[in-house]
Amino acid sequence: MPINPQRLDSQRLGRRALLENSTLLLTAASMAPATVFADDVPSPFKIGLVTDLHYADKPVAGNRYYRETLAKLEQAALQFEQADPAFIVELGDLIDAADSVQTEQRYLKTINREFATICSERHYVLGNHCVDTLRKEEFLGGVGQEKSYYSFNQGGFHFIVLDACFRSDGQPYGRKNSVWTDANIPPAELDWLQADLKSNQSPVIVFAHQRLDVSNSHGVKNNADVRRVLEESGNVRVVFQGHSHQNDLKDIGGIHYCTLVAMVEGSGTDNNGYSTLNLYRDGTIAVDGFRKQADYRW
Ligand SMILES: [Zn+2]
Repeated sequence: MPINPQRLDSQRLGRRALLENSTLLLTAASMAPATVFADDVPSPFKIGLVTDLHYADKPVAGNRYYRETLAKLEQAALQFEQADPAFIVELGDLIDAADSVQTEQRYLKTINREFATICSERHYVLGNHCVDTLRKEEFLGGVGQEKSYYSFNQGGFHFIVLDACFRSDGQPYGRKNSVWTDANIPPAELDWLQADLKSNQSPVIVFAHQRLDVSNSHGVKNNADVRRVLEESGNVRVVFQGHSHQNDLKDIGGIHYCTLVAMVEGSGTDNNGYSTLNLYRDGTIAVDGFRKQADYRW
């Protein structure tokens, strides 16, 4: 059994690395040939994931160490440099709220300057804090992204970015007009999602900020409707989300809902959290978590 040299390059030796380099690769080799990847796509196809950075130049509040996010992101960047992901996804709350638009723009500029050095292809999911002070077009303009929800194909997968920063009455968040517990995917976005999934045959990975798997204050209010659309497609493998700052995993209707740990929580780089998502040729999906981020393999 040949050992994948890329995996051996990983500094993350120990129990899991051994597993990946022997047992699990043996399993993969004995399975049916590739059904997901084109031959020219490297396996694993790698994606960087971070969430809830909440960067702000302001004092600690509770367990949120806003200023330390810069050092934590630098640490994550070193890992991503080694993994060399095809793209990186920031799952929302890149910045924390400021009192003025000008200050908020400064926070965004500061953190995005660091974030942009990690990878040339980046996807930003809108978090409630991203569009607390700023309007959506201001945040998106600041990070160079055209839309708040959209889809794209890469590595044999179909990826969908969702935007739940809408009030129940359909108004988009911005200029402190929202209550964080009132997150919704409005009918127009839901219709778009349904049509997008219908026109796609590839396995799907969804990125959202507010949660689609809980009905408490961290959940999207109409998430049962969203889940129904996702389940109807039959192609959605996993939804990655942030917002509640803790590792969590729920399986509902054949779809994994994986909540990633927040970068902002806790002092020092030991309390950091970030991950590499590895998509394997045999269809295996693995989250390689660092620091406080849990590992998963489906
Ligand atoms: Zn957050």
